[in-house]
Amino acid sequence: MAPKGDNVVVSNMKLERMLSMKGGKGEASYANNSQAQALHAKSMLHLLEETLDVAQLNSPEVPFVVVDLGCSCGNNTIYIVDVIIKHMIKRYEALGSEPPEFSAFFSDLPSNDFNTLFQLLPPLANDGGSMEECLAADNHRSYFAAGVPGSFYKRLFPASSIDVFYSAFSLHWLSQVPECVLDKRSAAYNNGRVFIHGANESTAKAYKKQFQTDLAGFLRSRSKEMKRGGSMFLVCLGRTSVDPTDQGGAGLLFGTHFQDAWDDLIQEGLISSEKRDNFNIPVYAPSLQDFKEVVEAVGSFSINKLEVFKGGSPLVVNQPDDPAEVGRALANSCRSVAGVLVDAHLGDLVSEELFTRVESRATSQAKELLEQLQFFHIVASLSFA
Ligand code: SAH
Repeated sequence: MAPKGDNVVVSNMKLERMLSMKGGKGEASYANNSQAQALHAKSMLHLLEETLDVAQLNSPEVPFVVVDLGCSCGNNTIYIVDVIIKHMIKRYEALGSEPPEFSAFFSDLPSNDFNTLFQLLPPLANDGGSMEECLAADNHRSYFAAGVPGSFYKRLFPASSIDVFYSAFSLHWLSQVPECVLDKRSAAYNNGRVFIHGANESTAKAYKKQFQTDLAGFLRSRSKEMKRGGSMFLVCLGRTSVDPTDQGGAGLLFGTHFQDAWDDLIQEGLISSEKRDNFNIPVYAPSLQDFKEVVEAVGSFSINKLEVFKGGSPLVVNQPDDPAEVGRALANSCRSVAGVLVDAHLGDLVSEELFTRVESRATSQAKELLEQLQFFHIVASLSFA
């Protein structure tokens, strides 16, 4: 029998069935390692609000429907949905109009830890309470909630049913690693690497093509699902370089200590080089131009804003002078997002060895990491006319 973790290539279908951030509430869970995403999202709230200001209001009898795509399982999604709904209520009230009822869909791939997410949801405000009471009670929610499992690269909702789509830090996840990247006979074979940072041009081209095909699928699906007058706020990891083999912050996260740790395992005889080469991180940080080309080619949405936003470091540490804390933060951060894929590829024991090496390598370069690791995001505010 093949040892656990010896499955060769994570095929497309499998990725859709298995990708998730690390669930639960443990040290390397997404819930415990997404404070940086929370800070970056908060620093963009003014842009989100601008997007909400152009969404068309329905008559109060029609429920207003908000969706978070790639919600994961931490507090970030609950915080954002609350911000969106409170902002919309204010807009109705500013017009002297009674706000409608709100419905919020939390959507992610089926292996997302929806249980943890649902347990974090505050209780629904009392029936019969007025909207004012609802808003005053901070630990209550003023919307009906539901989880929607599925890939956002396909249809998830009925036609013309959604008013606002929000998606943060998710669209850089590809639907699959391009097949040629894992094919030894192809020029795009990513020999010796687990990410496209520093890879050859053909590999990068294949990743870019995959990103653009995926984003087009995303936008086409949303154009069917959105109500006329709806608006959409998208944020994903981006890069400032025109060259896709320079993946910026994502490149540092997956292309340096993480990459070197795989090489350590080979040198120590724990895995073969084929094992490493069969693994690739299905992430692509697009440039503004990469993203814009797709929005324009699909053509269904008008662009209110499309820009690169400097988010800052993905590492939130209490003591920046403590190299051990910085090293641990990098390893946990990496593990919270890529751990599930690595566990599936290497098995839990070897995966543990890998992240121990990521941690010790990052600890020895803590100062440089803090100085150099910066995330840039592509921010898009789009309207459906
Ligand atoms: N929006 C959250 C979580 C971002 S983590 C926040 O702001 O903190 C990225 C999420 O995107 C993960 O939960 C991952 O499962 C999800 N994701 C990746 N590819 C996806 C796909 N094709 N369809 C739906 N969700 C996807």
